[in-house]
Amino acid sequence: MSDDFLEDAGLDTLAIRAGIRRTHEGEHCEPIFTTSSYVFSSAAEAAARFAGNSPGNVYSRYTNPSVRVFQDRIAALEGGEAAVATASGMAAILSTCMAHLQSGDHIVCSRSVFGTTTVLFTRYMEKFGVNVSLVPLTDLAAWRSAIRPTTKLMFLETPSNPLCDIADIAALAQIARESGSLLVVDNCFCTPALQRPLAMGADLVIHSATKYLDGQGRCLGGAVVGRFDLIDPILGFVRTCGPSMSPFNAWIFTKGLETLRLRMDAHSANALALAHYLDGREEVEKVFYAGLSDHPGHELARKQQRAFGGVLSFRVKGDKSAAWRFIDAVKIMSLTANLGDTKTTIVHPATTTHGRLSAEEKQASGITENLIRVAVGLEDLDDLMKDLQRGFAALG
Ligand SMILES: *Cc1c(COP(=O)(O)O)cnc(C)c1O
Repeated sequence: MSDDFLEDAGLDTLAIRAGIRRTHEGEHCEPIFTTSSYVFSSAAEAAARFAGNSPGNVYSRYTNPSVRVFQDRIAALEGGEAAVATASGMAAILSTCMAHLQSGDHIVCSRSVFGTTTVLFTRYMEKFGVNVSLVPLTDLAAWRSAIRPTTKLMFLETPSNPLCDIADIAALAQIARESGSLLVVDNCFCTPALQRPLAMGADLVIHSATKYLDGQGRCLGGAVVGRFDLIDPILGFVRTCGPSMSPFNAWIFTKGLETLRLRMDAHSANALALAHYLDGREEVEKVFYAGLSDHPGHELARKQQRAFGGVLSFRVKGDKSAAWRFIDAVKIMSLTANLGDTKTTIVHPATTTHGRLSAEEKQASGITENLIRVAVGLEDLDDLMKDLQRGFAALG
């Protein structure tokens, strides 16, 4: 980051100020540069730009000023040296694999990651000779014993979706260092407002900007953050193969970052209150939220997160039909698999987000038929509680 005066600035200042480069127009708000290419002042300058000997833009598949502001800002917030923006969260994960893995390499991945991430690793990376082992997120011994001489990458999300298991990032970073592999943390659920994996020893942080970075469900995007020497090859893949972020989306995410901390605190406060409310209802069998003191990851989450985040899940007493009756009765909460939105969303994981798991896999990972996930938004808490009461009324 070039802004020296922001070197020891706090998170909110960085979220609002990092990465700004004003043009000669003196605009206050960051502009959107909707241009595919750039003109050069002379043939010599064009030659120097193409050769990489002169800084500046050539083509928006490589660099774009609006995308650069977002990259610099998310890098500053995560405490990383550099970031590369991508067209989606999945493109961020794919680009990381394509840049840092080759045939014969091995990935150790948490069992509890975004389903499409598992599909990318097992169906597509395996096609190119990259092997994958899936391990339980919180079992350090299992991570250790899954490591092979060819292991190059360890991949996880914490808190996990939908059961909010918490991984010990520092302990896993130690295992990664000892085995010479990269620890990659998908920080989608916490965002840098609540958790900064690089400071705990992770090598790369992945984002689906689609979720909380925008926070209002408007567009798709992703990012990878880390050291220059790790980001540069990923940028090389993106500029060659084209999963680049559009300038409009970059602008949405840049403006989203400005309110990120305020939103994450509000999501977390609403979620904690709803978790306590659900915990007190006799129709509820169990609540999964790391903010509850009886959650197995509670102490660890207190140590490595600033707050507990916006996603919780709970089991209603009964079977699938009870969970479906509950979901069909709420009126405010949106029935959608997406999360990280001002609007609260509700979903039945066993038949949607985790529907492709076998019955045994669901059983092993705790995705029971009576489980409901809520990604708590920013509506009035009283209204959200009333909405849950509609669900409870439908159970009786
Ligand atoms: C949504 C999501 C992704 C994928 O992001 P897209 O922007 O949809 O491609 C990756 N990881 C997590 C944790 C997600 O929730």
